[in-house]
Amino acid sequence: MAQPGIPAARGAAAGLQAQNGAASASGSPYTNGPVQNTLMSSQVSSGQGYDSQLPGSYPRPMPAKTLNPFSAQSNFGGSQGSGQTLNRPLVASNPVPPSLHSGPSRMPPPPSQNPTATSMPSGSFLPGTNVPPPPLNWQYNYPSTGPQTNHFPHIAQPSISGNTNLTADHQYVSSGDPALQTSFIKPGSALPLQNPPLPTTFQPGAPPGPPPAAGLPPNRPPPAAGPPPNRGLTSQKTPPRAALPPSFNSAVSHDGITANASNGSMVTHSTYDEIEGGGFLAPQPANQNPQTSRSVGYAYPSLPPGYQNTALPGAAGMPPPSLNYPSGPQAFTQTPLGANHLTASMSGLSLHPEGLRVVNLLQERNMLPSTPLKPPVPNLHEDIQKLNCNPELFRCTLTSIPQTQALLNKAKLPLGLLLHPFKDLVQLPVVTSSTIVRCRSCRTYINPFVNFLDQRRWKCNLCYRVNDVPEEFMYNPLTRVYGEPHKRPEVQNATIEFMAPSEYMLRPPQPPVYLFVFDVSHNAIETGYLNSVCQSLLDNLDLLPGNTRTKIGFITFDSTIHFYSLQEGLSQPQMLIVSDIDDVFIPMPENLLVNLNESKELVQDLLKTLPQMFTKTLETQSALGPALQAAFKLISPTGGRISVFQTQLPTLGVGALKPREEPNQRSSAKEIHLTPSTDFYKKLALDCSGQQAAVDLFLLSGQYSDLASLGCISRYSAGSVYYYPSYHHQHNPVQVQKLQKELQRYLTRKIGFEAVMRIRCTKGLSIHTFHGNFFVRSTDLLSLPNVNPDAGYAVQMSVEESLTDTQLVSFQSALLYTSSKGERRIRVHTLCLPVVSTLNEVFLGADVQAISGLLANMAVDRSVTASLSDARDALVNAVIDSLSAYRSSVLSSQQPGLMVPFSLRLFPLFVLALLKQKSFQTGTNVRLDERIFAMCQVKNQPLVHLMLTTHPSLYRVDNLSDEGALNINDRTIPQPPILQLSVEKLSRDGAFLMDAGSVLMLWVGKNCAQNFLSQVLGVQNYASIPQTMTELPELDTPESARTVAFISWLREQRPFFPILYVIREESLMKAVFLQNLVEDRTESALSYYEFLLHIQQQVNK
Ligand SMILES: [Zn+2]
Repeated sequence: MAQPGIPAARGAAAGLQAQNGAASASGSPYTNGPVQNTLMSSQVSSGQGYDSQLPGSYPRPMPAKTLNPFSAQSNFGGSQGSGQTLNRPLVASNPVPPSLHSGPSRMPPPPSQNPTATSMPSGSFLPGTNVPPPPLNWQYNYPSTGPQTNHFPHIAQPSISGNTNLTADHQYVSSGDPALQTSFIKPGSALPLQNPPLPTTFQPGAPPGPPPAAGLPPNRPPPAAGPPPNRGLTSQKTPPRAALPPSFNSAVSHDGITANASNGSMVTHSTYDEIEGGGFLAPQPANQNPQTSRSVGYAYPSLPPGYQNTALPGAAGMPPPSLNYPSGPQAFTQTPLGANHLTASMSGLSLHPEGLRVVNLLQERNMLPSTPLKPPVPNLHEDIQKLNCNPELFRCTLTSIPQTQALLNKAKLPLGLLLHPFKDLVQLPVVTSSTIVRCRSCRTYINPFVNFLDQRRWKCNLCYRVNDVPEEFMYNPLTRVYGEPHKRPEVQNATIEFMAPSEYMLRPPQPPVYLFVFDVSHNAIETGYLNSVCQSLLDNLDLLPGNTRTKIGFITFDSTIHFYSLQEGLSQPQMLIVSDIDDVFIPMPENLLVNLNESKELVQDLLKTLPQMFTKTLETQSALGPALQAAFKLISPTGGRISVFQTQLPTLGVGALKPREEPNQRSSAKEIHLTPSTDFYKKLALDCSGQQAAVDLFLLSGQYSDLASLGCISRYSAGSVYYYPSYHHQHNPVQVQKLQKELQRYLTRKIGFEAVMRIRCTKGLSIHTFHGNFFVRSTDLLSLPNVNPDAGYAVQMSVEESLTDTQLVSFQSALLYTSSKGERRIRVHTLCLPVVSTLNEVFLGADVQAISGLLANMAVDRSVTASLSDARDALVNAVIDSLSAYRSSVLSSQQPGLMVPFSLRLFPLFVLALLKQKSFQTGTNVRLDERIFAMCQVKNQPLVHLMLTTHPSLYRVDNLSDEGALNINDRTIPQPPILQLSVEKLSRDGAFLMDAGSVLMLWVGKNCAQNFLSQVLGVQNYASIPQTMTELPELDTPESARTVAFISWLREQRPFFPILYVIREESLMKAVFLQNLVEDRTESALSYYEFLLHIQQQVNK
């Protein structure tokens, strides 16, 4: 199928010509500013009942299902949830999905010899009537700098593509107009139960609540915090100093804490928004577990602030904690960052000369570096850069921020951030201090990029407010020196974690609660998965993150729902069957979620017997929806994690689904069902989110199971989706191994509960679209009932106000969570970047991986809200538009060829790889659920994994040597060069390893050297390589040691264990291997060279 080495076949060339003809000129750039605003605001204000926006087709089993004890949540869920993300009417009235837009037809046609494929993508842009006319040109929804955008001067209307259009409405409405905001508040106040009404009593002795900051509606709850950060930032023009919220610092003195803790005053926060953004004290409720309160800082008042550098709780295998602060008499003297530093940085431009080069991609076809591509280093003075956030945690698509939106628009590159905020870290400074120093105006945490005006004052690097340095901060516990606030760890580390005092809590930290929900229908039992899962749980029971408070529970279901009483003292678990799935109730709720320590034996008993209990079942129905409702009810009082294992399409009760996939239609890009068929799962997810519960879905199904609908349960509750197609305990041993390994990680990795995340940025910049699994509450606060170290997030930004007077901008993410040990913690990352004024500098600083990753996220949204072909067009246009801009505006002379800045030399390659990725590829060989799963992955993976999945690394491994090898802990790890992804790089006498992130493929050539076969694979000859081989033997040979060391090292780089497939000529996996050779032509996609020619034609038009 792959036909390498056919450069620009005649057919393709002809196709390209035709394509050119069809391509329309780029017209007026579309901005979503005014259009979207008007539409959305009118929608919301006219129909506050969100039901009016519901498609009539929703079968509405929900209202009847109102969960009596939780009616408030039901309402909440109802109103929030009815804004079906993929609600057609909403989409239709909203001209552009918040992200990419595509030009009509600059997509390269597939090779013309494939009739199926040719009929496909390019002609089909105007998918059904629901989709608005595509804009003529694509941009990234930048609000334009023109007058039209500024209906809402305070903030770019955030659109929550990662979540819900309805949410976007909310956010939008909340963005500035007081009248509209009123209407926003209403639905918002129907938020979860645990968000009590507004604080009615304020902290005695604390300053009274601030008047609402200027620019905020008067009826906004008097938040402690003043405006949420972005709004706060952007509305800085107006608020008078007097309106500032009371100082957090002044309210929290050492003594104050003791007093607050003991006097039992009534102040409570009503929302996490206030907490994260806010500054009021909120003593814990009276029934506070004393143990807990001690662990969160109440007991510290009399102690000097202590600092720890601890390993993260629950993170296995971490080295013992040790202090790692630059504690010596370092020469770091805080001078005002900015002018001085920047001047210095400009003179000693840190870019390597290579980075300034212009590359003609048609001449230099192999631009792929032989070592993993490193993120670009921001062009900052080294004193600043050495303090900057690790790009693995936090990076920006443009490491040089354009000064104005006009400049950004010119570059035609997306501006956004990619985050991996909860990544496992070996070194993490943890600060325990009664004073967390934050900007009084915008609530930014003090960080390395603030400016100390003198010892007593610091200037916020986000909003420029001058703040006092609190007395306590004057003392540096590391050096034991008074009077060097700039040497405190908070100012020396761009990544830091704070132990949060009680005002960062809405309630006592929840215990870790794990609820497992198992499909035990006939189909499920057939797969044999239950055995694996129960065994995994037994093996890892003691490793579940938690403490003596950990709770656990189990539910199984087929056509009925089964609960298990695990009450301490029972001689064996007791099964309780509830057959009324129309009105699920919880029998003996207090005995179903039990303390793991106290009931461990019963839990173990249950896990041992469960797999046998249903072996004779004939029940084929699946009441997943009711089972999830039961799980939700059971976990509601505490929140926690629900892990659902499902093996088929749910058939019974609420949430029942129908098959929608038509295999013959798979190729027809516009017809496929990427949108959910019901909003049941999304609504339930929002209910869960409101109760601080996340749902992780494990789908083990060989049949179509409508992941597009099911996946919503995880997406909006901040869970994750795991997919094991065709799982079978006998027929598919590889999947069994994969599930076991992944469960091991899943069960034992760190977990954060009841988390919220907020991202702040320097005044003038504005975040407007979020990607990932979460629910967006109150404009820009991401609600994450669970947060795990393997989840990634992305946001899009625009330049709202000119940054002409600014030389540096900063971005700060703050993740507030409850650890499995019951501590409230805040993890803060701060990234600092330079501002530039020329297009060339913007291009020089482009981070091609971050750009590709952000575009992939945008393209998923585009696929769902418009169509797959639209998304594909948009991806291609992203390359064409930016390279055209570079050619016309930066290059002085118009050379022939395809000239690109060095920073973007891999841009066309990565976009081509995205087009061939499962999410976006055309052709009939992607099953719908697999495609949806790939899209879920795009949204939920950290960038590094997304890029590896998209553009795998290929190595030749039959001749590994120690040359250039790494030495880690006495292990020698070979570092073979990375090869281009083309059959041209393979040879039959070699063996090649492809690292595609979640899977490793070792292709062995037919004439592979005998040495490799015997010394590494341990086989006599090629013919005796087993048909299915997923492990390498550890032989006592240097060759084996090198190969095994290399593969182990690759595996250690990622959280989930990638399965290794050894592939020979006849292997089934061979097709997958070849498909990943993205530089080659396939039946339905161009080769890299053909793609370059196409891009060149478009760019040089
Ligand atoms: Zn500030």
